[in-house]
Amino acid sequence: MNRTFTMIKPDAVGNGHIGAILEKINASGFNIVAMKLTKLSKSDAEKFYQVHSERSFYGDLVNYMTEGPIVAAILQKTNAVDDFRVLIGATNPAEAAEGTIRKLFATSISANAVHGSDSDENAKIESNFFFKNDERF
Ligand code: GDP
Repeated sequence: MNRTFTMIKPDAVGNGHIGAILEKINASGFNIVAMKLTKLSKSDAEKFYQVHSERSFYGDLVNYMTEGPIVAAILQKTNAVDDFRVLIGATNPAEAAEGTIRKLFATSISANAVHGSDSDENAKIESNFFFKNDERF
């Protein structure tokens, strides 16, 4: 079993898709091992997306991610990181495969419904960002 980290982003929370997205996550074989509804401050969002700080869309991304609440969660499954990237689909929902979470629920390349870690190492870093090495999880 391994783990990945996800966020349900402000567009999907605001559009009332939390329940449908969690259902799809569970139906795809992931167990939710930690979860919270929270809201990112500007400095949280800047830190979380630091890797993109040189990109042209960084400012828009930080603004968007602080617009409303998000759901942060740690998910467990064999091959969790790669399988979750398949389940969420391409970054741009216009290019996402049929049936993926982004195809079903995202509104734009920025407001793309969900985050999914891109490696085991980043899954740990991102989980710790929200759940602070909490031993219960
Ligand atoms: P991901 O791993 O599929 O989430 O994609 P990236 O790591 O490349 O980008 C992180 C996030 O930045 C994406 O999920 C989008 O919310 C946002 N993003 C990526 N590319 C663009 C872009 O070209 N324009 C805008 N406005 N946002 C983008």
